Amino acid sequence: MTDAYDIIVVGGGPAGSSAAMTAAQRGARVLLLEKDAEIGLPVRCAEGVSERSLKDLFESHPPWISNRITKLSFFAPDGTEVRLNAPRIGYILDRRAFDSNLAQRAVRAGAEVLTGACVRGMTPLTGNGWNVSVLRRNQPSQFTTRIVIGADGVESRVGRWAGLDTKTTLHDIETCLQYSMEGLDLDPACCQLHFGGHVAPGGYLWVFPKGPGMANVGVGISGEYSRRMKPIDYLNRFVDRAYAGASVLRTVGGSVPCSLPLKETVSDGLLLVGDAAHQADPMTGGGIMNAVRAGRMAGHVAAEAIMMGDTSKKQLMAYQEQCGELLGKKLRRSYRLKKAVYKLTDKELNDTAASVNSRAPDKRTLGRIFVTALTKNPKLLSDIIALFGS
Ligand SMILES: Cc1cc2nc3c(=O)[nH]c(=O)nc-3n(C[C@H](O)[C@H](O)[C@H](O)COP(=O)(O)OP(=O)(O)OC[C@H]3O[C@@H](n4cnc5c(N)ncnc54)[C@H](O)[C@@H]3O)c2cc1C
Repeated sequence: MTDAYDIIVVGGGPAGSSAAMTAAQRGARVLLLEKDAEIGLPVRCAEGVSERSLKDLFESHPPWISNRITKLSFFAPDGTEVRLNAPRIGYILDRRAFDSNLAQRAVRAGAEVLTGACVRGMTPLTGNGWNVSVLRRNQPSQFTTRIVIGADGVESRVGRWAGLDTKTTLHDIETCLQYSMEGLDLDPACCQLHFGGHVAPGGYLWVFPKGPGMANVGVGISGEYSRRMKPIDYLNRFVDRAYAGASVLRTVGGSVPCSLPLKETVSDGLLLVGDAAHQADPMTGGGIMNAVRAGRMAGHVAAEAIMMGDTSKKQLMAYQEQCGELLGKKLRRSYRLKKAVYKLTDKELNDTAASVNSRAPDKRTLGRIFVTALTKNPKLLSDIIALFGS
């Protein structure tokens, strides 16, 4: 191990490992620094991904899948269930194994990985590049690099250290709490999503089965409501009602930035990826696969910049532009939808569920639910037209 690198990646989640792998594959000297003692732990995630994105990004039959999902049930605030059968919905990952496998791929591509290494700050070097300060096993150390890739998740500080505006409103941060539960009576092929002001204001409650009798059961609420009642109170109320007698094996808390993507994700010698760049889907909070996509783009652009000998913001802008094309439009649309959907009252959600259920099961699609919500709420329709037109 040296103390001078082409690229230092801060954070060993899906974004960081994907960036490190791609940059190393292209010949850059890469160091990935992860503050936790083990890559992939703690798992702060419901582990759900869509089949389409998984197939886009990975080989078939990867070893880190826990469960396949073929059904989706929406629950309105009054308990009405709308069930969709969709054989191609997705998978529940084993996130610990997934993150670990991504880091392994990075190492095999030639990157170095240091765990238990917390990045404490970075200062620009004269000319170009960064001096990165790290604390590991209570020992401070310094590394130099020409490019830093900030993949340090929702709690990201790398962007701020580099002078980028990474602020989010409380409204756009989903505060989450999740139990890993065993002994549940549920359909292991069906993900449940529960909505309503008393269930999960400005968010939703999920039951994502990991296999027979076991599931990630969690809730995410908009940060603006978390002072009124905490996520744990919403979750306990649900669990006591739906799964009394089942066991909670693990509890994790966390948050997801459900805002618009950051306007600026690059600076001289710096790129931000994944949650650090607010690339999770604002409507669903799903950020795993976007983190992988963006990580690969960042790794590619950073390695090219190293090869060209130009690590300026102008050169790195290619990453921001590619992200804008591949993710930006989708994320902005999803943000507008989130704003519109979370305006629905409990009564409007109940009416929508009843109306969708009056259709034949094969006519109940996600699109149909949305169209029904719109036609039952003309005001919402005009809001959305205005939003899409803006
Ligand atoms: C409760 C919950 C449920 C979720 N469920 C889903 C889901 O079902 N599906 C989905 O797609 N998404 C889900 N998400 C979102 C998803 O987990 C994130 O979008 C995804 O992990 C983003 O990947 P990332 O690599 O950007 O960040 P992370 O996975 O958060 O990785 C960032 C890494 O950086 C490290 N780090 C931070 N600061 C430093 C530092 N100073 N020095 C060194 N290392 C540092 C952290 O320890 C961490 O390992 C969920 C999130 C939460 C909180």
